[in-house]
Amino acid sequence: MQNRRIVLASRPHGAPSEQNFRLETLPAAEPGEGQALVRTVFLSLDPYMRGRMSDAPSYAAPVQIGGTMEAGVVGRVVQSRSPELAPGDWVEARLGWQEYAVADAKALRKLPPGAPPSTGLGVLGMPGMTAWVGMANIGQPKPGETVVVAAASGPVGSMVGQIARIRGARAVGIAGGADKCAYVRSLGFEDCIDHRDPAMAERLAEACPKGIDVYFENVSGKVWEAVLPLLNPFARVPVCGLIANYNMTELPPGPDRTPQVMRAVLSKRLLIRGFLVFDFADQQAAFLEEAGRWLAEGKIKHREDVTEGLENAPRAFIAMLGGGNFGKTLVRVGPD
Ligand code: NDP
Repeated sequence: MQNRRIVLASRPHGAPSEQNFRLETLPAAEPGEGQALVRTVFLSLDPYMRGRMSDAPSYAAPVQIGGTMEAGVVGRVVQSRSPELAPGDWVEARLGWQEYAVADAKALRKLPPGAPPSTGLGVLGMPGMTAWVGMANIGQPKPGETVVVAAASGPVGSMVGQIARIRGARAVGIAGGADKCAYVRSLGFEDCIDHRDPAMAERLAEACPKGIDVYFENVSGKVWEAVLPLLNPFARVPVCGLIANYNMTELPPGPDRTPQVMRAVLSKRLLIRGFLVFDFADQQAAFLEEAGRWLAEGKIKHREDVTEGLENAPRAFIAMLGGGNFGKTLVRVGPD
């Protein structure tokens, strides 16, 4: 059986291009004892992959040149040499940008029946859990408080705002463009501000007349600059992602704003805490139980942006980094 995979051909400087990737075809591996061969159905494209393309120091090792690009996928077991898995089972695992992969059975999470399998990469997968653990452990919104999140139409941001609403807080989103903002409002966000609007900072202040109690940081850049003066005393800032900076090749020109930021941290007693979803791996069962129930009861909505064909993954990934996606970015690699 032949396997098509996408490898890292070279490291980008600034924004990635399609030349940084290469499609290869080679024989698929055979499963050993305790392993299974999985056929990818959906591949997840996520912003963190930009970090894996770079060899700058990070919390995770980079993908090597010539190595398969990393990714979470959902797929079906083709062949199993483990009693825990049978051909046809739906599983979720970190198998990379490829059609077939062999993995230890213990590294494959069997998807629960009910929700569509693709949700295992979005609303009921890593991004949904990121929103849930960041809000539960750091954001901790209280009824009546104001929660702000950017990239608000994406899988993390849309979940953050919907959790805020479920917890009785007001959610204000920030997103790129009128269509995304209309969608974000349709999720029950009180308001949504277009970050391309030159008056974004003023619009955000109007939308947050009582200040901001939780700012779920997904983007940094000019959104963070607009948020900082609006933060209330004792505001919480879960630092989840900094996508505005991911393609940066040098620091922006001065002035150095560190003194302002640190003064705000001190005088407003801000809690600014970075986190990675896997810091809270032990909360996965609690997340899946609560988010699964919300989804089944129609309390949360989600949206997927599906590109057809593994060969189109680089293009979809590059577009997503610049806001070209509308919802959770997925690639359909094969039929169900
Ligand atoms: P999305 O699907 O929302 O895609 C990224 C979005 O970021 C784009 O669609 C775009 O939306 C927005 N964006 C890009 N550049 C800018 C910019 N300069 N200013 C404002 N918005 C920008 O991504 P996810 O929901 O998957 O991820 C959201 C964030 O969460 C990312 O920063 C990601 O790295 C982080 N993350 C962190 C994890 C952790 O463990 N800490 C785990 C998972 C995700 P728009 O068109 O609205 O501008």
